[in-house]
Amino acid sequence: MTTQHVSVGGRTIDAGEKQTFRFACSETYHDDELEIPVTVINGTSPGPCVFLTAAVHGDELNGVKIIQEVADHYEPADLHGALVCLHVLNVPGFLAQQRYIPIYDEDLNRSFPGNARTTMAKRLANTIYEEFISKCDLGLDFHTSTRNRTTMYHVRADMRDPAVERLARAFGTSVILDGEGSIGTLRRTACRDGIPTVTVEMGRAHRFQTAHLDRALHCVASVLAEYEVLPDRPVSWPGWTRVVARDGEKTWLRAETGGLVEMEWRLHPLVEDGDPLFTISDHFKDDIEVIRAPSTGLIVGVLESAVAYPGHPLCHFVSIDEPTAEIIRDDIEQGVFDIYREGGFQWPEPRWYTEHGLDTDAEHTGEVHDIG
Ligand SMILES: [Zn+2]
Repeated sequence: MTTQHVSVGGRTIDAGEKQTFRFACSETYHDDELEIPVTVINGTSPGPCVFLTAAVHGDELNGVKIIQEVADHYEPADLHGALVCLHVLNVPGFLAQQRYIPIYDEDLNRSFPGNARTTMAKRLANTIYEEFISKCDLGLDFHTSTRNRTTMYHVRADMRDPAVERLARAFGTSVILDGEGSIGTLRRTACRDGIPTVTVEMGRAHRFQTAHLDRALHCVASVLAEYEVLPDRPVSWPGWTRVVARDGEKTWLRAETGGLVEMEWRLHPLVEDGDPLFTISDHFKDDIEVIRAPSTGLIVGVLESAVAYPGHPLCHFVSIDEPTAEIIRDDIEQGVFDIYREGGFQWPEPRWYTEHGLDTDAEHTGEVHDIG
């Protein structure tokens, strides 16, 4: 909990103060400083210190825009607690617009908590972790799919940890992928140190996707409401959630033959058992393979491949039960998914809210459906 001041990045930010600055995190070949843009908004009232991070993979830009908007939007008078916004973590990757640190293609998000005496990635991770992350109480790390893929808006969280589960549910996405994350990720490292953190995944690399951004700003506010950083705002509830278990519930649908890929999938995330999702054809259309949905479910990620070889992953598929499918079918009938594909696989706005605190109880709407 913050009391009066926040000390991060070698600075002190007093209660009621908002500071933007650039934090020197490393150096270029020219001996110029590489700088992380930082915004710290310290509320006039005490409360938790929440970090928001983006572009730990340098080309994943939706989060950069989200943090720009969050940093611009909130003022100290709004907050009971503090926001520590790290606008870009992988500065060299961001400058090169690529996922990894351009030196030896190191993955910054496999380098936490880092080490001050070894590689560029580990030093950078160590600096970020020591100077900022370790001083916060909880956090959100924004990602997108890697290049040539797209992903449905969802959260990844270690749902075995009740403190992390609270954060994941407060964020208010319908789909939560359960798992602790790979060794060296910012999320796993922070959670291990008792700083509940979730990864937010959305859309594509290399672009800003407006629908995702609007939704994410709403979800950030929901988290701030849950932890009473925004004490007067209600926590969002998406209407239903599907927590995808860590052991094999999420499956890749793969091509069995090589060829040219066409996506047959319609304009919403729900697919019914047996629906054609992709066709793969040879140049003469003599050999056509149809990839069908193995059950009723959701497409949570798509490789936007034009060509495939045998074994080529085409999409990530998650089955859902019938009551959940019914809720989504109603939404489809009401047209809420009409711009789903154009909107970058954007789920509609949450339509149900709770008062303070997390309410996973269906009684207040009669329609809320939560499956584990
Ligand atoms: Zn990423």
